[in-house]
Amino acid sequence: MTDATAYDLIAIGGGSGGLAATQRAAEYGARCLVIERDGRLGGTCVNVGCVPKKVMWHAAEIAQVLGAAGAYGFTVGEPVHDWATLVERRENYISRLNGIYDRNLNNKSVDWLTGTAQFVDAHTLQVGDELYTAPHIIIATGGEPVVPAIAGAEAGITSDGFFALTERPQRVAVVGSGYIAVELAGVLAALGSDVDLYARYDSILRSLDPMLQEAAIAALVEHDVTVNLHSIPTELRTSGEGLQLSFESGVTGAPADAVIWAVGRRPLTYGLNLDAAGVETGARGHIVVDKFQQSNVAGVYAIGDATGQVELTPVAIAAGRRLSDRVFGGMDGRYLDYNNIPTVIFSHPTIGTVGMTEPQAVEQFGADAVKTYQSGFNSLYYGVQEHKVRSTMKLVCAGAEERVVGVHMIGPGSDEILQGFAVAVKMGATKADLDNTVAIHPTSAEELVTMR
Ligand SMILES: Cc1cc2nc3c(=O)[nH]c(=O)nc-3n(C[C@H](O)[C@H](O)[C@H](O)COP(=O)(O)OP(=O)(O)OC[C@H]3O[C@@H](n4cnc5c(N)ncnc54)[C@H](O)[C@@H]3O)c2cc1C
Repeated sequence: MTDATAYDLIAIGGGSGGLAATQRAAEYGARCLVIERDGRLGGTCVNVGCVPKKVMWHAAEIAQVLGAAGAYGFTVGEPVHDWATLVERRENYISRLNGIYDRNLNNKSVDWLTGTAQFVDAHTLQVGDELYTAPHIIIATGGEPVVPAIAGAEAGITSDGFFALTERPQRVAVVGSGYIAVELAGVLAALGSDVDLYARYDSILRSLDPMLQEAAIAALVEHDVTVNLHSIPTELRTSGEGLQLSFESGVTGAPADAVIWAVGRRPLTYGLNLDAAGVETGARGHIVVDKFQQSNVAGVYAIGDATGQVELTPVAIAAGRRLSDRVFGGMDGRYLDYNNIPTVIFSHPTIGTVGMTEPQAVEQFGADAVKTYQSGFNSLYYGVQEHKVRSTMKLVCAGAEERVVGVHMIGPGSDEILQGFAVAVKMGATKADLDNTVAIHPTSAEELVTMR
């Protein structure tokens, strides 16, 4: 083994967090290295997450627009969709992004290499036969999908496997109730698959406001997804009929061509030899950090999905940039505030949510101090169509001044509407502030400033 190569900062993982943190540190003059095991940059989001998912979502939306075209006077033949073309164009786009990320690092003089990093001590990493050392090391290793420990589970695929599909399975069972399960079920159904969604408990998207949970189930059903609640899988069998799930209730699922496990993700921390550095993890393997993303070992930090905080790309990026601002940019005390982080579920229609759910607000402020406003309507887009998808919006307000502590919406455009309202929530807007804002007509967003 040769002498260790020295850097100011090393990020383990070339995904959203690691790339953001090193590039920001390099802007301050730090000498940085990114170690990425995958051979391509971008991590989960670019390669098997947000980006390919959103491309598939667009395809599904186009399928739905084609269905609506007749109502707007168009004559279109029966649409034929070629999954392989979509996948090829999607992957070409991702390759271009991988190249852009590579060039971005080069432009900022950040080194990167392909390999799997392990700790030798708190400030030294080993990749193959090489050693790399830095006073500051960021663990930005993200996570991976979980496959349940039941008989036959290996015959199913995860979201990674979904993105590797070269043809669309006709009969699909999606197991899970989080946003990935809902999104993949929606895409497959819109593109013509027969989809069964199996959720463990009595609802889906259970961290969201109850209004959204209910509306999300209704929207899936509206798009011909069969939603099966209270379904805990015990076995996956392969027979001539296809793949078949058994459930704790004694029920057997419909035969499927593909079973997609969307039952959660676990942090990629178990192979890092953390003991050599003395870095502590929580019960599920996440790196334990304080509000400055600092682990229990000085100079070792963690950001993004590896910490199990809010598992979203902009969160990993924001945490990484703030960390580098603090450590290399002289911005003492800078950290990411994890409150009021907006999030979107790319269902059909989309869901947008920021702040507290009604039950959370009631728990924090007491039922008497919480007032909600809700509006349900059909967006004008559906005015000329027989088929209608309902939009619902809800404001959760607290205190005598009716501060808006939660904004929840499902309906076309919710994904794009939410960002601006998230700014308002973050700034402490009250219901009166929304009322004082003149509406934009005719839009769906105007409902949020005209509720009574
Ligand atoms: C299907 C799906 C859809 C998603 N959709 C969205 C969305 O719409 N919006 C959103 O905000 N978020 C979405 N996410 C979540 C988002 O992708 C993650 O929150 C984000 O990628 C986390 O960034 P990260 O830097 O923590 O980890 P990652 O982006 O996962 O990067 C970690 C990198 O570390 C590498 N690595 C791991 N171990 C080692 C090691 N020992 N040595 C070297 N390299 C290592 C991995 O190969 C990986 O490239 C989605 C995720 C999935 C799975």
